[in-house]
Amino acid sequence: MTDMNLMEKIVSLCKRRGFVFPGSEIYGGLAGTFDYGPLGVILKENVQNLWLSMFRDSRDDMYGIDARILMNPKVWEASGHVSTFADPLEDGKMFNTMFKTTVGVGEEATSIYLRPETAGGIFTNFKNVVDSMHPKLPFGIAQIGTAFRNEIAPRDFIFRLRELSQMEVEYFVKPSDWEQAFEEWRKQMHLFAKMIGLPQEMLHELEVGDGDRAHYSKRTIDFEFDYPFGRKELWGLAYRTDFDLSAHAKASTVELTYLDEETKEKFIPHVIEPSLGVDRTILAIFVSAYREDQMGDETRTYLALAPKVAPVKAMVSPLLKNKPELVLKAREVRKELQKIHPAIAWDDNGNIGKRYRRQDEIGTPFCITIDFDTLGETPELKDTVTLRHRDSGTQERLSLNEVASRIKTAIE
Ligand code: ATP
Repeated sequence: MTDMNLMEKIVSLCKRRGFVFPGSEIYGGLAGTFDYGPLGVILKENVQNLWLSMFRDSRDDMYGIDARILMNPKVWEASGHVSTFADPLEDGKMFNTMFKTTVGVGEEATSIYLRPETAGGIFTNFKNVVDSMHPKLPFGIAQIGTAFRNEIAPRDFIFRLRELSQMEVEYFVKPSDWEQAFEEWRKQMHLFAKMIGLPQEMLHELEVGDGDRAHYSKRTIDFEFDYPFGRKELWGLAYRTDFDLSAHAKASTVELTYLDEETKEKFIPHVIEPSLGVDRTILAIFVSAYREDQMGDETRTYLALAPKVAPVKAMVSPLLKNKPELVLKAREVRKELQKIHPAIAWDDNGNIGKRYRRQDEIGTPFCITIDFDTLGETPELKDTVTLRHRDSGTQERLSLNEVASRIKTAIE
């Protein structure tokens, strides 16, 4: 399988099985936009929920917000995006990649931008979070949201989009503590990669040189990933200094400082920013999980998804569709397993091999089959089922309790 062949196969599987569709497809599409389908939306939510849990909810020093895409255009003047958020065109001119739109009507109409990064909403709410939550430094604000970039050449499926999602943290520290916080978030990002099943050997850190960093950054590490089209930026970790808070304080004339209650010192905190693109993360997951192997005399396609991110955790199936007693028992088993996790699928279509293949292609880690032995035809096998493992295709005969605890352990 060549690398480009791999991309074609991923794009095709994503469409065929309801993960990702081209945006506005029936009208011929819209470049740089893709829609998540029924399975894709669950995969995306799983990734986002894992991020929220690790980067926000399991910590005492993190706060969430949900800020708007539409902001006062002064935000983007102060942040430097109006003057510097640009890419070079072929003839050497710079092209600002922020999308413009209009709010209001008639004489009231004003030109504004669609946010090019979610960070803007975090910095402008810094004072609100401090005044309402009284956090102690160091603390951070986390947000997941949509951002827009009018990329000159959107490409590589969901890698370079014009409408994208970001999971961002702005972590506020005493200026002298920035290096320690930078190292902590660097470790967190590696842990997150591991949790969602990205192989360490496909992830590479790139220390971004002086001339190549964004205008606000004093240190940046790009987390690059081995995509089929090359080693490219997956996530970024930046030390943004006090650039943003200082710039917004100056432009808005609102004081954006932190008062240390103990030392009575007042200062503008410095910022460490781990910024993770949702769509690039999902593409990295597909690239590292896509597999083909020989099973029996067929080539099989499967997604070796980490059970935590897999949209379907297990599939339950009666061996035969036309035996009401098997169907009834299988329905009971499914209901029981749904107490562990709701994403337990049902499939009684076609033969059992075909059902397994369908689940393999969407990355379902386990398949459970109910047969006459489950019902007690062989008395010592009563209430046991067949548990089939996605990656190896091997099957085990286990009690229902054992199956439940296997699923639980895999997704915890
Ligand atoms: P690139 O150099 O690839 O254009 P960038 O350095 O401009 O990316 P950042 O400004 O650091 O990207 O944005 C933070 C994160 O947002 C990136 O690491 C990436 O995961 C995601 N991201 C940025 N631009 C896009 C895009 N056009 N499509 C999808 N995700 C994006």
